[in-house]
Amino acid sequence: MKCTRCKSTAVVALPSHHAGFCPDCFLQFFSRQVERGIHSQQLFTNGDRILVALSGGKDSLALALELKLQGYDVSGLHVDLAIPISSVSARAAVEAFCGQHGIPLLVRDMAAEGLPIPLVKKRVKRPICSVCGKIKRHFFNRAALEHGFTVLATGHNLDDEVARLFSNVLRWDVAYLSDQGPGLPAETGFARKVKPLWRLSEFETANYAFLRGIEHHIAPCPYSPGATFTAYKGLWTDLEARMPGRKLDFYQGFLKNGRPIFNRVEEESGERLAPCRSCGCPTSAETCGVCRIKDMLAQPEA
Ligand code: SF4
Ligand code: ZN
Repeated sequence: MKCTRCKSTAVVALPSHHAGFCPDCFLQFFSRQVERGIHSQQLFTNGDRILVALSGGKDSLALALELKLQGYDVSGLHVDLAIPISSVSARAAVEAFCGQHGIPLLVRDMAAEGLPIPLVKKRVKRPICSVCGKIKRHFFNRAALEHGFTVLATGHNLDDEVARLFSNVLRWDVAYLSDQGPGLPAETGFARKVKPLWRLSEFETANYAFLRGIEHHIAPCPYSPGATFTAYKGLWTDLEARMPGRKLDFYQGFLKNGRPIFNRVEEESGERLAPCRSCGCPTSAETCGVCRIKDMLAQPEA
């Protein structure tokens, strides 16, 4: 197969774009897709200070590197979850990456915060991934606001977004559907959140990380269930193989035609938020969910 752009040997085939690329042209294609994703959704500009949430996986590291190469003001944030083996490997990968590319790094340590995830899992009787996700989002948001960043970016790709959208549609979850998309504006107590890789698939991001020589962490979290999301991703991979381009169409169709409607419905039922009396983050209760978990863990086990 020949590269669609320069006619040398192609190494990456992209049926959904009816194209194949050599390494250099693929990297250019990837950059263009990120640029299009940022500009079409007005995610941010060169004047913004961007904090990228770095898990140590390929997507978040690829995002930080690409934004830096495009000349944006980028810093990294890593939340160390204190999970044996996997957190050590994740933090080491993030620290090595930021050192190599000259990206300033903030680290929030959940053991020091009194919220090590293994203890949270032991004491909180809810699915650990939803609690862990809540804790991570809480610390991402706080770090962004405390350090004056104007944008908080995550490495979610098109496959992540389509799987999440599909899951939200299956449950007709209006609150989640109204919030889903590549950009969420800042509100009182909440930083602006963006997902600049929303046009790129997991396959494309993996190729980018490989071609750029990004060393990401691969020790999986021992609590990872992933079964449902993996099943949705599998369904969409099959559909995409039969109908190339369907994933991006589905997601863009939602942004254009679906999200505005869910937004309106959610605004009408708007919930009032007030600062948490402990940490100041917006919450619908007196104390936010994360501070409540922290207080509970500080008590001796019943
Ligand atoms: Fe947290 Fe679940 Fe991810 Fe593990 S798999 S890091 S528990 S969200
Ligand atoms: Zn709080």
